[in-house]
Amino acid sequence: MSYTRGLHELGDGCFAYLQPDGSWGWSNAGLVAGDGASLLVDTLFDLKLTRQMLDAMSSVTQTAPIATLVNTHANGDHCYGNQLVDNAEIIASAATAHEMTEVPPAMMAALHSAPGEVGELFRGFFGAFDFEGIDVRMPTRTFEGRLEVEVGGRSIELIEVGPAHTQGDTLAHVPDARTIYTGDILFIGGTPIVWAGPLSNWVAACDLILGLDVDTVVPGHGPVTDKTGVVGVRDYLAFVDEAATARHSAGLDAWEAARDIAREIGANAEFSGWGEFGRITVNVDTVYRWLDPGYQTPNVVEQFRRMASLESPA
Ligand SMILES: [Zn+2]
Repeated sequence: MSYTRGLHELGDGCFAYLQPDGSWGWSNAGLVAGDGASLLVDTLFDLKLTRQMLDAMSSVTQTAPIATLVNTHANGDHCYGNQLVDNAEIIASAATAHEMTEVPPAMMAALHSAPGEVGELFRGFFGAFDFEGIDVRMPTRTFEGRLEVEVGGRSIELIEVGPAHTQGDTLAHVPDARTIYTGDILFIGGTPIVWAGPLSNWVAACDLILGLDVDTVVPGHGPVTDKTGVVGVRDYLAFVDEAATARHSAGLDAWEAARDIAREIGANAEFSGWGEFGRITVNVDTVYRWLDPGYQTPNVVEQFRRMASLESPA
């Protein structure tokens, strides 16, 4: 399937809405159509993008309106468009519902127009999006562990695998279509970013997907893949976990370790072509925090500064 912007039919009433190039904020969503009702997996980062997506889905949702919306996790590029989905039950893990209150869109809007270095840094990552007018509609139903949802006569299995990328990551598995929507448990062609961790939980989530009977895998960012894409993400996370742990034992601080591992990744054919490779610095911070609960993670502005500096060395 071509990696182009818009709605793509996967077969068996399953669709993916893709937004190349999959970098910061350019997320994917999914639609599972049943008999007379459908389920939407995630909304997008702003109202305009979400409206475009819902319009593109209208040929399906005219006869099978969205009865259920699942938010895979709390990052804004997966839930900031919730208010445009009328009358749907909104389901998320309890940890995700809690985390959805933590980064209000008003804060993103303020950063977007902030003067000076912070505003410039923010716009460098998120300047393409419009955070005005967003009032995030919260989940109306939460769960822990697993939840089976029935939509239009078919069954969708929600599997909580967080904390990993965030506090409450959820997979949406459609067994009758051998399809899974993974949210940001998969970044394809871009570097995964481990905000929460531990990395071992995320590796376990990849192993869980590899153990399912699925052929079609829709990531949170990047092109639709299959199990080979899952193996790549698993290998990256296992590599970073080991590389950062070794440097922690050797006494390097996290920023030294991140720059050192970035050099190693640059020389490693397996991961060197991935976008957003500066995310290694956040991933190393997360490994250090799990090794040493007293480790002070740099504030988020400093984290973005470090990612930018790794990707465009002066
Ligand atoms: Zn995302």
